[in-house]
Amino acid sequence: MQKRFLNEKIHNELVPALEQLVEELPDDLVEFSEVEQVLRVRFLKLAGDMLRGWSEVAVTRISIPGCPSCGNTMRHKGLKPLTLATTLGHVQLRRPRYRCKRCKKDIYPHDQRIRFLSNGVSLVMGKVVCRMSADKPFARAAEDLQEDYGVRLCKQTVEHVAESAGKQINAIEDRRRETIQGLSPGERLSALPGATDTPGKLAVACCDGAMIHTGSKPKYLKNKADKPGWYEVRAASIAIGDPVHDGIEPRCNASEKPGPDSPGPDSPGPDSPGPDSPGRGHHFRMNVLRTRSFARFESVADVGMDMYLRACEVGFFDAPLQCFLSDGAAWLRNIAEEHFPDAIPILDWYHVTEYVCEVAALLFGQGTAQAKRWIESRKAELWAGRIGAALHAITHQRKKDDLTQQQRDALDRTTTYIDGNRDRMQYPRYRELGLPIGSGRAEGLRKTLVEGRCKQSGMRNWTPPGAEGILRLRAARHDGIFNQTWSQYFTPTA
Ligand SMILES: [Zn+2]
Repeated sequence: MQKRFLNEKIHNELVPALEQLVEELPDDLVEFSEVEQVLRVRFLKLAGDMLRGWSEVAVTRISIPGCPSCGNTMRHKGLKPLTLATTLGHVQLRRPRYRCKRCKKDIYPHDQRIRFLSNGVSLVMGKVVCRMSADKPFARAAEDLQEDYGVRLCKQTVEHVAESAGKQINAIEDRRRETIQGLSPGERLSALPGATDTPGKLAVACCDGAMIHTGSKPKYLKNKADKPGWYEVRAASIAIGDPVHDGIEPRCNASEKPGPDSPGPDSPGPDSPGPDSPGRGHHFRMNVLRTRSFARFESVADVGMDMYLRACEVGFFDAPLQCFLSDGAAWLRNIAEEHFPDAIPILDWYHVTEYVCEVAALLFGQGTAQAKRWIESRKAELWAGRIGAALHAITHQRKKDDLTQQQRDALDRTTTYIDGNRDRMQYPRYRELGLPIGSGRAEGLRKTLVEGRCKQSGMRNWTPPGAEGILRLRAARHDGIFNQTWSQYFTPTA
């Protein structure tokens, strides 16, 4: 490589430019901010010039395999220009073109290493575009790229770069899942990822649905009409860590008999008032060691397998205490039973209280004192594990003669919900074990991971794979492993 030319360039161009810059700088310390800005802009430009100068003298020889289509020898056809958006600004470079005479096809063998997924951005810039697009709308990412890097990319380009990256990761992970799904249970054991990091004492899995507006139907919904609309992504997270004991966790009354066979009077139990009252006093905190999240338009079978693979990856099954938080929906129960048989299934406390509140509002009027009293009593019973008592109180209301159809439906729905989830509502036991009972985690998944990026105004009409692509990048951010994920999937290789 002709580094001599680069050195000449430094002496002939950069040094005079720097000397002139020094001349232009103001004299007073009060101008600090201005100097900072000027230096940043000018040095960025010099670095961009340097990168372009370097690319002009860099070695372009490269060994070429035959034509990708026919295997024929390819011929060098000179250097072709390429403009790339880089973190040092827009840079023009020239790279060799090779041509297959038989197929009349051109290839640019350097592009695989220079351009990010065949886009007009460098690999390093591609990473910035993806990180920004994971965090904010494409238009805002484009604004920030101009502000921070002096690079002008239109919103559509930003969108295309980020979505293509996310799609690529999803495609690789889908193939991995399909391979594992095709294996026998015995073969699976050796093919699964095993966690090598420090094991955690507590493992929490949770999954929930969230709605996204897309311009077409997600592919996995085979029998539905293809039209724009709101479709459900399934968002899941797997976390392992250690529970944090900060001394404010609730005490559990040891004489309390939780479980389905504990009928009781309609009044709150002895341990209900005070700091231990329902929903309060239970400060579950977890020092998270590792977490993996995702949100996909997928079948239940695929979501289950994706959760399972991530669970293996973080060492979920090595944790002595495992739980699976959900809203009790049938598809989630199936996933829990198939892939997490040893995890304690827990019905999200907030979902239960939603049912109770709905019934109370219909029976006694929204926000009335009577409704509040009724809600507090049912919550106290459920909190204490006295499910029989809560059900008794609900069915008691059902016996009234003057109920509207809406009231009857709500009462029936709530009865079915609570009755069908009895074994997932042993809240005193969960509290005693130090398990989470409200899926602040599932809530966070839905709101932070999905809705924060896909459901704001102006964030409509995603393509399903595009939304999934952005959500894949966002999940890596959410889990605090963006850099790790990036180098896993986008390390330049020959
Ligand atoms: Zn060919």
